[in-house]
Amino acid sequence: MFRLTVIYDNKASQGFTESWGFAALIETSSETLLFDTGWDGPLLLRHMKSLNIDPVNIRKLIISHQHWDHIGGLPEVLQVNPGLEVYVPASLSENLKKEIEKRASLIEIKEPIEISQGINSTGELGDKVKEQALVLDTGNGCYVLTGCAHPGLAEILDTVSRYGKVKGIIGGLHDNEEFERLRRMELIAAGHCTTHRERIKQIFPTKFIEIEVGLRLELK
Ligand SMILES: [Zn+2]
Ligand SMILES: [Zn+2]
Repeated sequence: MFRLTVIYDNKASQGFTESWGFAALIETSSETLLFDTGWDGPLLLRHMKSLNIDPVNIRKLIISHQHWDHIGGLPEVLQVNPGLEVYVPASLSENLKKEIEKRASLIEIKEPIEISQGINSTGELGDKVKEQALVLDTGNGCYVLTGCAHPGLAEILDTVSRYGKVKGIIGGLHDNEEFERLRRMELIAAGHCTTHRERIKQIFPTKFIEIEVGLRLELK
């Protein structure tokens, strides 16, 4: 079982501030991981405080891709949690990689790799904007966590399906229109940059969940 908490998004529930970007926390039985950092680091840390998340407990930070709305909070996270392991797409800017290395252990991702027990990176996907997504394998099916899904749903889901049945997707879906790829899922939690949010909601009304800061999901 994984507990996923949205801590940064373009939409926010009461008591939180909406801001363009995405970040989510994943808690497993053994460790805590952060996926992306949003844009505004101090806001990210404020949201963590409101959600009773101590950033010092985060062991691993995964950066989906190098867009500003996913890496903006990096300096603040590294400042409060030096020594963190940071997993980035290997194609990330060389200068940014050097800066991260000054403050944390940098792990460059090219191929699919297990990051934590039951949590795998898809490896770097796509061509124009390279991006990694996470596969959360509950032992009972998989959930995909995406930043913006720039490589396209087809490429991402083809990779993820190697790990087993894909039960759900969580994250930004950008302008993807491959809606049929979502049909067999049980959960579609779309947020951040998802252009066709309303269409997806219309097609899959019972499976759709709106992503907003403060959303907590238990993935089994
Ligand atoms: Zn984005
Ligand atoms: Zn992006």
